[in-house]
Amino acid sequence: MSQEYHGLAASPGIAIGTVWTFRCAEPEIDTAPIGEDRIESELSAFRQAQDRVEAHLKRLYQKVLAAQGEKEAEIFASHIEMLRDEEFEKDIDTLITGKSHTATRAVKKYLDQAAENMRALDDEYLKERAAEFKDLQHNLLLALNDLPFASLGEAPEGCVIFAEDLSPSETAQLDPEKVRGFVLAGGGLTSHVAILARNLGLPAVMGLEGIVSRVHDGQSVIIDGGNGKVILDAAGDTITAYEAKKTEQKALEKEYEKLLHEPATSTDGVTIKLFSNIGSPQDLHLVEQNGSEGIGLFRSEFLFMESRTAPSEDRQYRAYRQVVEHLGERPVILRLTDIGGDKPLPYLNFAKEDNPFLGWRGVRIYPEMDTIFTAQIRAALRASAHGNLWIMVPMVSNVAEIVFVREQVCQQADALKREGIACNAGIKIGIMIETPAAALIARQLAKVSDFFSIGSNDLTQYTIAVDRGNTKISALYDSLHPAVLRLMKEAADAAHEAGIEIGVCGEMGGQPEAVPLLLGMGFSELSISGRMVSAVKYRIRHLSHKRCRQLLEQALAADDAAAVRALLATL
Ligand code: PEP
Ligand code: MG
Repeated sequence: MSQEYHGLAASPGIAIGTVWTFRCAEPEIDTAPIGEDRIESELSAFRQAQDRVEAHLKRLYQKVLAAQGEKEAEIFASHIEMLRDEEFEKDIDTLITGKSHTATRAVKKYLDQAAENMRALDDEYLKERAAEFKDLQHNLLLALNDLPFASLGEAPEGCVIFAEDLSPSETAQLDPEKVRGFVLAGGGLTSHVAILARNLGLPAVMGLEGIVSRVHDGQSVIIDGGNGKVILDAAGDTITAYEAKKTEQKALEKEYEKLLHEPATSTDGVTIKLFSNIGSPQDLHLVEQNGSEGIGLFRSEFLFMESRTAPSEDRQYRAYRQVVEHLGERPVILRLTDIGGDKPLPYLNFAKEDNPFLGWRGVRIYPEMDTIFTAQIRAALRASAHGNLWIMVPMVSNVAEIVFVREQVCQQADALKREGIACNAGIKIGIMIETPAAALIARQLAKVSDFFSIGSNDLTQYTIAVDRGNTKISALYDSLHPAVLRLMKEAADAAHEAGIEIGVCGEMGGQPEAVPLLLGMGFSELSISGRMVSAVKYRIRHLSHKRCRQLLEQALAADDAAAVRALLATL
């Protein structure tokens, strides 16, 4: 009997293979207090474990560097840094000498706490970084127990790996030639393993609690990463259907490659520009890989989240300048930092909030965070002298917010002029339409904005009142809900009437199934994450704008997202 499960669609693609479960060794923790006589031997055991783990991490670093490049290998350099951190060593020594802990207990206690502190930050991205402390802890405990480091290198040819979770050091050992995909009980869309799976082009489904105990090695499995679907012991005709789907996808990928430098023009001559989303200059390779015509969302808050203090004006300037220079005449839309609420920064004193998504975040914090805000505006203005930089304001719900940002940009441009520093005083300033309020007053906002960009991730969350990170209600989170489409259309119409550009920079822009509706609404640009640009381009090149407009009218009147999908299927 076949069984079907639905999890998070972490990496698209179809994999057909056999289950291989990965269970790592469980190291023991000795919790009995030690006497004076064992202090030296425990301290020395810790030092030896550090050496063994360091040697292991260095091997992983070299392996990943050779196979995937510096950016991917970087994580192991940071683990070595954590391992040799003076404060960490000092605290472990204190736990052993002052608190009579064994080395295993001290390592467990210290790194549990460090991971806990990270998790408490309430931010998905930083939360998942807590896994790195756990990874280091696991390796140290294995070394202290004289156990071998876990190895995915043994995964058999043609397998789909099933695991509770995979740490960066475990995934680094994986051979992408042998492995067909992943299914994880844990993981998240922004976890290291999800990013790695997408980079390697391996299908992955995550967040399937309890899945590992429901499968056995050698069982046949199909995963459809784009839909988060896992099918065990599928019937023969299902396997045949998925094999056909896979062959079709492979053939399509070949077609996509041919379109790299072609425009995204519909069959009746309407062209949409396709841009990329980035989080830092390190993502610039995406622009070339995708043949992108610009950057429609540069999420500047990653620069703020990566460091222990707010990045200085100069540091930001260098990062922004690097990006605009790389893009030349192509536009770079820098989103002013969207921190606060669910993305607090450890170095800023954010009070705990009951409803952080509805709280003090995005543009709402700028008036109080004057120093940080001014530094970012100045950095952006200075970088604007080196390319085509635009500024975008997140979480707008009132006209006064964008007016405030405009005034501040004007003041800083004047100040730079007085200081003799070059900048583009006429820099374009636009807003994200990601609250229902912004969509509904788009006509008023258009009077004070140079452009709009739909943040469909948040717009969906706020319109349907469904937390975008809550897997329990993820079935309700659907950007094709007619209410979301209606708000998008409202904003698009307002932008067209006012003669300003409007694009989409949320994940919806990269979903080929949504493309007919986006084409129908008349967006001038879609900004897309990861590698989906060519799939979207292919879709646009096979659609008629006229037909999409008709379909959109029907979709706006549909009962629900399922009805919208049924309409899309008629194209
Ligand atoms: C959005 O909300 O659609 C968006 C692009 O912003 P973020 O995902 O960073 O909230
Ligand atoms: Mg958003």
